This record gives sequence, structure tokens and C-alpha cells, in this order.
Amino acid sequence: MLSPWRSESYWLLWLTFVGLFAGKLTGGYLPAIGLCVLIYLGRHLAQINRLLLWLRGGGKIPQGSGIWEEINYLIYRLRRRNKTRKKRLLRMLERFRTATAALPDATVVLGPRDEIDWFNEAAGSLLGLRKSDLGQQVGNLVRYPRFADFLRSSEYHSTLNMPSPANEKNQLEIRIVPYGDDLRLLIAQDVTQLRFMERVRSDFVANVSHELRTPLTVLKGYLETLGDEHPPLPERYGKIFRRMEEQTERMQNLVDGLLSLTRLESGGGSPQREVDVGALLRAICEEYGLISPTHAELELRLEAAAGLMGSEAELRSAFSNLIGNALKYTPAEGRITVGWREQDGGLVAEVADNGPGIAEEHLPRLTERFYRVEPDDGRRRGGAGLGLAIVKHVLSRHDAELKISSSPGKGSRFSCHFPAKRVVQLRV
Ligand code: ADP
Repeated sequence: MLSPWRSESYWLLWLTFVGLFAGKLTGGYLPAIGLCVLIYLGRHLAQINRLLLWLRGGGKIPQGSGIWEEINYLIYRLRRRNKTRKKRLLRMLERFRTATAALPDATVVLGPRDEIDWFNEAAGSLLGLRKSDLGQQVGNLVRYPRFADFLRSSEYHSTLNMPSPANEKNQLEIRIVPYGDDLRLLIAQDVTQLRFMERVRSDFVANVSHELRTPLTVLKGYLETLGDEHPPLPERYGKIFRRMEEQTERMQNLVDGLLSLTRLESGGGSPQREVDVGALLRAICEEYGLISPTHAELELRLEAAAGLMGSEAELRSAFSNLIGNALKYTPAEGRITVGWREQDGGLVAEVADNGPGIAEEHLPRLTERFYRVEPDDGRRRGGAGLGLAIVKHVLSRHDAELKISSSPGKGSRFSCHFPAKRVVQLRV
């Protein structure tokens, strides 16, 4: 096949030749050449017209000669490629939709004004959405007091637990994932079974701990009676009874700790009142000052006058654990500072000591249940490893955060950061 430009040049040459020949025959070169130019132009216009008709209406690819053959073919190839690409995209989109539709978690695509753009089947059964809800704002359809606030807040790392609007008995965990410009994905997972298992576990721990309490109290009572025996028991037995007493005491602490944790986890609301944290810290220090086995110096720095809205019993248990730990781990010649101060509009309760400190690798795990650091001196302090887990739970129930900084050989600092929304000015 000739190249398009060469065949086009032959066309032009041929027409020029015909024009010249006709001009020579008729004696009028100008009209003859003019006629040839018109024929040339007419041919191009006819090709353009055919191309337009084909582009508009489809049908068979128009036949052309010269340069038009190449143009028609290139446009045809481009169209065919686009068609195949479109088909592939549609197939992919369809596959993606079927996959998301089959997901067990409810998935809702939200537009810039939180209107529903698309949702999968699970969103129908878990969130009670229907086809007619498309385009409506999700906040108007999912009616739960904290849902609207959660949607408005941009805390994408947190989740919201709420009952399913389709069935109150089911529990959902809602997560918002931002993507693209102003678009968000709402994902709701059915956690009913998970919550049920958690409740079974915590009920089991609570029941076992409760059942262990009575036999432990009886054992402890008998051991105390034996210890007070007159005349005293021979030293050989006395040592054994003291060890038994220590271990029952340890078990009792463990049982009490587990019971406190299950109470906190069950979320049963202890009353929220104005708590004078300064006075509370002073009272705890005084109690510990009297009974502390070590004689580390205890200093109170109460710089803030404000208090907190919260549960006094829970806060007492958290601060007692922190101060108790400081006393337990700081040697007699050490120093412990208990502080209460303002910071960034919120309040901070702090317990710092210059005791043995904790190696960095343990810090992230300290608040796990039963996590204990084996002391360098090999002496066990009888802790169950539940104290800091209780502190963390209490603080999270007060929207607060526990920060721990420590360096081995220098000491440790445990700070409880309470947000401004918990601060109350105390009436005097
Ligand atoms: P425990 O009942 O063992 O004290 P906690 O949960 O209260 O349990 O503490 C966990 C671990 O953190 C402890 O085993 C201890 O090693 C370490 N720890 C806590 N407070 C201090 C402190 N003030 N100084 C040094 N180590 C501490």
C-alpha cells in the first residue's frame, strides 16, 4: 500500500495534469485549474461529511482514499481501544461492587454533605437503609444521640459503639474513613457476638473473684488467730504461718483488683459529682503516711484550686494505686512528690519519685493486666500487676490520659491529664 502522503501527492499531481491538459485543449487555463481545485475541495468535503456521519451515528467505517484512508483508520482504532478500555473498567467496577456488596460489614459512601451516595447489602440489614434513602443525609436516617456528634468530629482513629437502628439487640461499632476530596466511608461492624463474649468473660472473672473472697477471709482470720496464739507458736511454725498470711494477703489483693477492674469494665456508672481532688490527694497521702512501710519523704504540691467532675471512689482508687506504687518501689531514703496543677486549660495529677525507675521497653506494656517488671534486686513487692490497669480504666472513664516517663536509676513520673471539659470550680 502507498503511504498516505504519497498517494495524496499523486492525487494532486493527477488533478494538476488534468487541469493543464484541459486548459491546453480549451485555451482557458484559469477556469480549467479552478475546476480542478473545486473537484479537490469537493472530495475532501465529501470525506469530512462521511466521517461526521459515522462519528455521530456509528455504522460502518467510511471508506476513503489517500490521507483520508489513514485518518479514518486511526479514528476507528482509537474508538475501538476506548470501547475495550470502557468494557474492562465496567467489568472491574462490577466486580468491585459485587465484592463490597458481599462484605459482612455495612459500607456506606458519603458525599461532601454526608449524603448517601451508595451502600452495600449489609448496610440495609445493619443500619436499616433502603434504596429510597440514596441522596439523603445519613444523620437524618441513623437516629442515635452520639451518632451526629461522631459524624461531625474528625476523630477518624476512634470508633462509636451503638445499638443497630434495624435491631436494638445488635451492637454496632462505627468507623469513619476519609478518602478523596471531601468523601468519607462509613463502616459499621456487627460486634454483638464479641460484646457477648466479653460480658461472659468479665462475668466469669467477677463470679470467681467473688466466690474466692469468702474462703480467703476465713483463711486469713484463722491465720491471724494462730499468729496471736499464747504462748506463741514455735519459730519453725511461726515462719510458715507468716508466709501463709503474706500469700493470702496477696491473693486477697488480686481478687480485690480483679473485682475493681470488672466493675470498671462493666461501665456501671458510679455517681458523677464535683470532686475536690486536692483534698482527696491530701487524704490519701495522710493515710499512706501512717501505714507506709517505707519512710520515703512524701511531698504534696497542690497548685490548682479547681476540682473535677467525676467519681470520687474511682479517682481515689486510681490515685491510691499511683501513690501506693511510688511508696512500694521507692527506697526509704527516696523522695515522692504528689502534684495537682493546671495545664493547657485542663488539670494534671502527678506522682513522681526518685526510685529505681523503669526500663523503656516496659513502658508501653505497664498498663496491661498482670504485667509486672521483675525488680533488679530480685525482691518481689507482692503486687498483682493490676494497679496500673485500674488507673488506665478509671482515667479513660474520665476522658483523661495517663502519661508515664521514667528512666532507670533516676525515678518515674505518672501524670494523669484531665481535659478542660472535666474541670469544675469548687464552691467554698
Ligand atoms: P503492681 O501491683 O505489680 O505494682 P502495677 O500495675 O501497679 O502492678 O505496676 C506494674 C509494674 O510497674 C510493677 O510491677 C512495677 O514494676 C512497675 N511500677 C509501677 N510503679 C512504679 C514506680 N513508681 N517505680 C518503679 N516501678 C513501678
